[in-house]
Amino acid sequence: MPDVALAVCVVVRYRKAVTYGVHALLAALDTAGVEHELRLGTTAEETADHILATGADRVLVLWSFYSPDAEAMAAELAAVSELSGGRGLHIAGGVHATAEPQQVLDSGWDLAGIGEGESTIVSLVRALQQDEPLTTVPGLAIKDADGVALRTRPAPQLPLDAFPSFAGRSGPIEITRGCRYTCRFCQTPFMFGGQFRHRSVASVRAHVRELVGRGLRDVRFITPTSLSYGSPGPDPDLGKVEELLAGVKEELPPHGRVFFGSFPSEVRPEHVTPEAMRLLKRYVANDNLIIGAQSGSDRVLAASGRGHDTSPVRDAVRIAVEHGFRPNVDFIFGMPGESQDDQAQSLQLAGDLAELGARIHTHTFMPLPGTPWRDAEPAFIPLATMSELDRLAQRGDAYGHWRKQAEHAARLAETAKAYPRRARRRRTTG
Ligand code: SF4
Repeated sequence: MPDVALAVCVVVRYRKAVTYGVHALLAALDTAGVEHELRLGTTAEETADHILATGADRVLVLWSFYSPDAEAMAAELAAVSELSGGRGLHIAGGVHATAEPQQVLDSGWDLAGIGEGESTIVSLVRALQQDEPLTTVPGLAIKDADGVALRTRPAPQLPLDAFPSFAGRSGPIEITRGCRYTCRFCQTPFMFGGQFRHRSVASVRAHVRELVGRGLRDVRFITPTSLSYGSPGPDPDLGKVEELLAGVKEELPPHGRVFFGSFPSEVRPEHVTPEAMRLLKRYVANDNLIIGAQSGSDRVLAASGRGHDTSPVRDAVRIAVEHGFRPNVDFIFGMPGESQDDQAQSLQLAGDLAELGARIHTHTFMPLPGTPWRDAEPAFIPLATMSELDRLAQRGDAYGHWRKQAEHAARLAETAKAYPRRARRRRTTG
């Protein structure tokens, strides 16, 4: 251990797509009082410049990305490494790195962050300051001499109040982490656990005060399922939801606005009841709700583990419209085992919901790492289905990036084949 702590510079490859997660990590460093220099690189060149410019003893470079971006980010890492002469310790975190640490290490990163990053980043920067072995840091995958990803002990899944969503920055407030549902296409339960962890109302209010103190007036939330706030189980606890919304309103100035159940979050269809809608109408500023339907086929919904069939979807759209919300309804086409008949049922339901006043947000199934369907074959989406989605989009009834996602799906399937599940996994004792 050095007599004096080594100076550590944290350089972030700062991308819009991942700012929320990065802000949480930086907030964890600030909250834990960990000394560090911080530099944000918004391009590869700027990131390399920061790596070269710092006079710190150690340079830790943070990367985070979703699975569809993994290939592009690996190319960028190579460019940054070349531009900065190989200086810096590069770590990739987030859901892709958690699911595919071996691939991340093979792609050139020095470390992969596994799981929730707050306690890992705090321990990692401290270990660099004290020149301690990185095997003492929880939640890492490190290459051994054979190139195999060795895992350190798991990072803890702490109560959400342990760290703020942001500190000295802004963004949506994360009110719930983890998800008790088991949708087989979704990375959330794998990454954050199968139980809800809710931020306390007091902590949410403190976040709102911080935003208001910096002159901001709009509040948004991150949660897997908005109306589950405060509830441990499948049924909403509307008393807790009202306590949250009323508390937030009290912290806001009169012209302040609360957005709940809309971007970047959504609601489950069976939670959309007249009582819930009346409650939201009293507090929220959003005129739309994002509702997850995913399929018009009860058979596909059952196979995907959604925990509901199509009937609450129709009810949710009708009830939301009756209460003055425009529903944006998520659909996924090409889920494993989906037949042409199932797709026809989805198109029929999408058309019916559009008639009721909904907009359809269309997605193509992607076999995402870490999910139960990582290795599943996407169902074929014939031209006729694509054309029908285009027709809905041209009428203004649908939107989404389903064509791009189909390309991502093909690339993810290639990665899954190259890295068979649970291959070459070892654990350190560190
Ligand atoms: S899709 Fe939504 S409800 Fe389903 S597991 Fe993911 S976060 Fe939970």
